[in-house]
Amino acid sequence: MAKNVDKLLELLAQAYPEARTELQFRSPFELLVATILSAQTTDRQVNRVTPLLFQHYPTPYALAAADPEDVAKDIAGVGLNRTKARYLVAAARKLVSDFGGSVPDSLDSLLTLPGVGRKTAKVVLANAFSRPALAVDTHVFRVARRLGLSQGRTPEEVERDLEAKIPSTHWIVTHHRLIQHGRRVCRARNPRCGECPLATECTAFLQKTQPKAGRKVENNLA
Ligand code: SF4
Repeated sequence: MAKNVDKLLELLAQAYPEARTELQFRSPFELLVATILSAQTTDRQVNRVTPLLFQHYPTPYALAAADPEDVAKDIAGVGLNRTKARYLVAAARKLVSDFGGSVPDSLDSLLTLPGVGRKTAKVVLANAFSRPALAVDTHVFRVARRLGLSQGRTPEEVERDLEAKIPSTHWIVTHHRLIQHGRRVCRARNPRCGECPLATECTAFLQKTQPKAGRKVENNLA
């Protein structure tokens, strides 16, 4: 492991020792549903609608038999609710038809479900099945690039770089820590570099404050 990666992981652990998903769930099925709902929506909004949704549709079988219009009403508090309702019902039908009503625990199988991309699949693998997976969402993408952990131009490229540099035993927790850091400090606009615990190891910050130091990255620091 590169020396500064080692140091970054240490600083992240100190700053966010308890980092974990904020989505509330009691089973792989509930996490799958919550994660599909979380696209372009805050976890808090998702947690507001899922109790009623899970009360009405507690299993993949119940959701598979639902009318997407009824599901859309239950999740009206999240963005794109009609589209997400269609995905949820279609995904539940696939779970019933292809996986015996259970959420599969492999990436390839999860990716066959409607509404499930790499990020959602990896969140489910990591948090429902404790499988090593490093999901790259908008926060992980931005923070990893600013820190200099990747210069990838797509989430897949950043995912590949992170998984190459970080030991697999740290993938799950590093995902959560990078998200917390992105939400609280390394925000998309006006990152709070002046109070950032990672600044001494951050390529974008060092480049901004010591322009001749380090590799050039697109730092987007306002
Ligand atoms: S120093 Fe600034 S750009 Fe670098 S990780 Fe911290 S907040 Fe983000």
